[in-house]
Parts: sequence; C-alpha cells; structure tokens
Amino acid sequence: MNPTSFHATISLSNGVQMPMLGLGTWQTPDGETASQAVRWAIELGYRHIDTAAIYGNEKGVGEGVRSSGVKREKIFVTTKVWNDAQRAGYDAVLSAFDESLARLQFDYVDLYLVHWPVKGKYKEAWRAMEKIYADGRAKAIGVSNFLQHHLDDLLPDAQIVPQVDQIELHPWLQQKSLTEYSVKHRIVQTAWSPLMQGKIDDVPELKRIARQYGKSAAQVALRWNIQHGIVTIPKSVRRERIAENANLEDFVLTSEDMQTIDGLDSHKRLGADPDNFSF
Ligand code: NDP
Repeated sequence: MNPTSFHATISLSNGVQMPMLGLGTWQTPDGETASQAVRWAIELGYRHIDTAAIYGNEKGVGEGVRSSGVKREKIFVTTKVWNDAQRAGYDAVLSAFDESLARLQFDYVDLYLVHWPVKGKYKEAWRAMEKIYADGRAKAIGVSNFLQHHLDDLLPDAQIVPQVDQIELHPWLQQKSLTEYSVKHRIVQTAWSPLMQGKIDDVPELKRIARQYGKSAAQVALRWNIQHGIVTIPKSVRRERIAENANLEDFVLTSEDMQTIDGLDSHKRLGADPDNFSF
C-alpha cells in the first residue's frame, strides 16, 4: 500500500494500526450534525474519528459510527479525558472513561488520551490510563499537548510509554524538536488544527504549491503532514470539505515543496500553550 495514502496506517508501539487521516470533531455540535459528519466521513473512506469528553459530542459520534454500516472494529475512535477529572484524581479518570464509553455506546475505544498536562496531576492520571489499557478497554493510550519536558517527567514513572502525543501542528507551528523526540521514543504524533482552524488559505506559499497540482491549500497541508509520517485530523461538518480533505492520493509533494513548507514555521500557536492554560 502507498505509505502516504490516507488509507495507510501507522503502527503504534504496541502494534495497533492507526489510520493516518482522521475526522476531527471539536466544535461539531452533538446529535444529528455529529452523526451525519461521521457517517459522511466513513462513507468517503475515513476509518478514524477524533472526539473528546469536552467536545460534548461523543453521543452523536458513537451514533454516527454505529449507523455507518461499517463494523465498529474497522473504525479507529479516539476520545480524551478532560482536565476536571484529571484534577480530581485516579478514580475520577476511571469514572470519566466509563462515562465516555456510555455516551459513545461502545465497549472499548481505540485510543484514550490525557487531553492536557495538568501540572502535578498528569502522573496520577497516567496510572489510571495504564489501568484502562491493562483491562483491554482502550486498545492504545496516549497524551495530548505534552511538550518534551512533560514527557521527560512522565516517562521514568510510566509502565507504558504513551503511544501517541496529539499536539497543535501546522505550517506555522511545527514543533520539530518534539517530533524528533517522539520518533526516538516511538510516540506517534497526531497534528491537531492541521488546517490552522480554517486559516489555511491565508498562506500564499501553500496556495502557490496547490496551484501547481490543481489541489487546495488544505490538501497540500494535509499531504505535508502525512508525508512527514504525522497523523492528521482535519475537522469539517460539510460533506464537500470532508471529501476534499481526503482527496490526497493523486499527488505527491516533492522534497522541494516539503522544504518550502518546513520553512514556514513561525512558532505561532493558534490554541493554548501547554505550559500556560487555565481550563
Ligand atoms: P482544523 O485545522 O481542522 O480546521 C477546522 C476549520 O477549518 C473549520 O472551521 C472548518 O469549517 C474549516 N475547514 C475544514 N476543511 C476545510 C477546507 N478544506 N478548506 C478550508 N477550510 C476548511 O481545526 P480544529 O481545531 O478543528 O482541529 C482539528 C481537530 O483536532 C479537532 O476537530 C479536534 O478533533 C482536534 N483538536 C484537538 C485538540 C487537543 O487539545 N487535543 C485541540 C484542538 C483540536 P467547516 O466545519 O465549516 O468545514
């Protein structure tokens, strides 16, 4: 299989196969909007959906997966434990997981993530994640928004190295040293806000490259992630954009294109700073 195909998967350190392209669902309203977006995505070939307890749409996402006509075991579903449960401690993380499963109406998830590194609390949360994994109720466990110093702090106490770190990553914020560190520790990176929260058309270099291939700036940005071996999870609730974001297989960025995009890093965050968030 073409390793840069969106149908391609990447092996997590425990052998679980994670599809390179997934559907993001932050700000996707629960109910019919969420379930319809998920059904469209699955119909268009996506096999990976990203949600979180805090998004408030696990019910709609679960419904979309169940009504898609594709078997549950063929779809990779990620959800995340929110910071309130992490602050409340070990038992609260276990309960939050049960509540997510109940909303999704699943008996397992493919990937469960610690959503943000809450200072002084994430090691305890990680012990609960390891328990969930040991019980077989999450096929893989990982973190999100962890920087190198959080991982350096967590790893000596961890029984299981996080299998994934989901971080903000797009042409303006590339976090290259964190990528190198993650490769070294066999932590697969997932890019959140890969379309820069809809600002992707504001990057002239991407538009220029896109024109050469008859593609969109969004498609170039997603292709750039995948060619770097980074899983990517663009969000849309519109069928035509869900299709556009998956139509990535009829072009390959040259090493020159890749270098041009690599050169756009301006360390500009669109979301919160993992060292300074208050939610
Ligand atoms: P994205 O970078 O995916 O951008 C989504 C925005 O771009 C929406 O406004 C969408 O609008 C628009 N859009 C979608 N497709 C296109 C396109 N082809 N051309 C132009 N605009 C487009 O932002 P997100 O912040 O949603 O990130 C993606 C996912 O990452 C989230 O949905 C969530 O699952 C995850 N995430 C995780 C975080 C974490 O802390 N772990 C934090 C933030 C996000 P429309 O829907 O109207 O098409």
